[in-house]
Amino acid sequence: MTPKNIQVIQRTFAIVWNDSREDYFDLEKLRRACPCATCQGEGNVLISARPTPQNYLPASFELRGWQYIGGYGVQLQWADGHATGIYSFDYLRQLSTGN
Ligand SMILES: [Zn+2]
Repeated sequence: MTPKNIQVIQRTFAIVWNDSREDYFDLEKLRRACPCATCQGEGNVLISARPTPQNYLPASFELRGWQYIGGYGVQLQWADGHATGIYSFDYLRQLSTGN
């Protein structure tokens, strides 16, 4: 499953998938779900009961940019400089159905 179109609309990261499904992610939720090791530590990020505490700033929830990574995900570049999180398409699909 791959995105057909991705847009950032105000505070929402919107994905239209190639099966015509549409998902809308709130930027703050997306940042808090950042899958990188710094944000989530070890283990399964979807099950983890105690995520690593983060010191978020208002800029942490502003998206400066994003890019496709290797055809399997997107890397999000946040306004506070954090850009190590690569959100695979599978992960994004799980996120959208998991809450
Ligand atoms: Zn992160």
